[in-house]
Amino acid sequence: MARESQLIRSVKGTRDLLPSETHLWQRVEDEARAVLAAYNFHEIRTPILEQTALFARSVGEETDIVTKEMYTFSDRDHESLTLRPEATASVVRAYIEHSLYNEGGIQKLYYVGPMFRRERPQKGRYRQFYQIGAEVLGSDHPTIDAEVIELLMLYLARLQLENTALLLNSVGCPLCRPEYLRVLRQALEGVKTNLCGDCQRRSETNPLRVLDCKVEADQPIIARLPSILDHLGPECRQHFDRVTAELDERGIQYTITPRLVRGLDYYTKTTFEITSGALGAQNALLGGGRYDGLAQMIGGPPTPGIGFSIGEDRLVLAVGEAVAGRADWAAAPVAAYIVWMGDRALAPARELARELRRQGLSVEIGYEPAKLKKSMGIASRIGARFAVIIGEGELESGRYQVKDMSSGEQQAVEPVGLVEYLRTHLTAPNCVAAAAIKSSDQG
Ligand code: AMP
Repeated sequence: MARESQLIRSVKGTRDLLPSETHLWQRVEDEARAVLAAYNFHEIRTPILEQTALFARSVGEETDIVTKEMYTFSDRDHESLTLRPEATASVVRAYIEHSLYNEGGIQKLYYVGPMFRRERPQKGRYRQFYQIGAEVLGSDHPTIDAEVIELLMLYLARLQLENTALLLNSVGCPLCRPEYLRVLRQALEGVKTNLCGDCQRRSETNPLRVLDCKVEADQPIIARLPSILDHLGPECRQHFDRVTAELDERGIQYTITPRLVRGLDYYTKTTFEITSGALGAQNALLGGGRYDGLAQMIGGPPTPGIGFSIGEDRLVLAVGEAVAGRADWAAAPVAAYIVWMGDRALAPARELARELRRQGLSVEIGYEPAKLKKSMGIASRIGARFAVIIGEGELESGRYQVKDMSSGEQQAVEPVGLVEYLRTHLTAPNCVAAAAIKSSDQG
């Protein structure tokens, strides 16, 4: 435990996201909500705490997540709880718990929030990280697989992300996978002693996991193992062919990657990942796939589903690079800093600030009396686009001085015309706070 005088720091692998970064996080989330809404997805918010069994059963007992990475603890009443390492299982649990299948048709749900995995922290890998994810429940139609990928492509394009690659695979289903596993086990028999310790264990317990081993020395051996795509049953084959055909029709490029089995057990048929060239070692931007058996694994009715999860931390890193220096992606500047001089100016200054803010403009005002020079220094430091100056002279003339902080030009404007003046002269639309209060809402 930290000594009393010692500075208490954030927990290893967790981060504070400061205002200099959060504007980009908000933008990335706003764009996600807009694109998801366009595809008729609705937000779901599930608890961060879940019963441990939910993840053990769905993500898989033999996965890295469940064996090594979960934050699991015994609650005061000895119930085993876990901070969610991912949200698909939670969304499917909620879907079952609230019988959303009774609402008819398919459910399209999305979430945004923190996940927890006790991984070794490095750039792009944290113990508390954020995901933006979506799930479509209630249909196994391959068009949905292609449409979900189309949505992701649109989203990444809106975020100006280029240099990404879509990797695609099918991991079969409980009908065809056993035969593939038999062939894979057989192949592993001959080579497993040359693989890393983890893979030797996985060869016995969960041979599919060998395929996504990241150990460099294992890669040439893994490359020669049989491909799951050669062992798909007729239904999975047809599904995969339909998905690839639909991606072709949509002009979406992909690379078929038979080793892509992803780190969670619940996947069936389509799996995919998008990597980004901007990310270095941790280059997986997002992952997803179909999980037609998941609902049953956690005690629900048979419900096909497909979803994806975007690593928001990594996405923000990549977007930050892609939009660096672009004014339309910069943090919203303060529209106006209101400078008042003399006690008599304070009340009208406060009233003006209130009115401009009611109109949705981002406004700052000095709280302490200050000389003009100092006030202008503050206006400049906070990046205000305009300074509005109210002193004795302005009160006399009934017109306030409005100074454009970038050009230095100054003009006298009547208070009633100020909103209009500022609006027409604000070139950056983001000076207007996103949640502008509509005129009908004004009190
Ligand atoms: P998964 O839930 O493992 O399929 O991961 C989906 C995405 O979440 C990955 O492609 C990463 O972008 C992101 N992700 C997973 N684990 C972490 C982590 N520890 N730190 C940051 N991002 C992560």
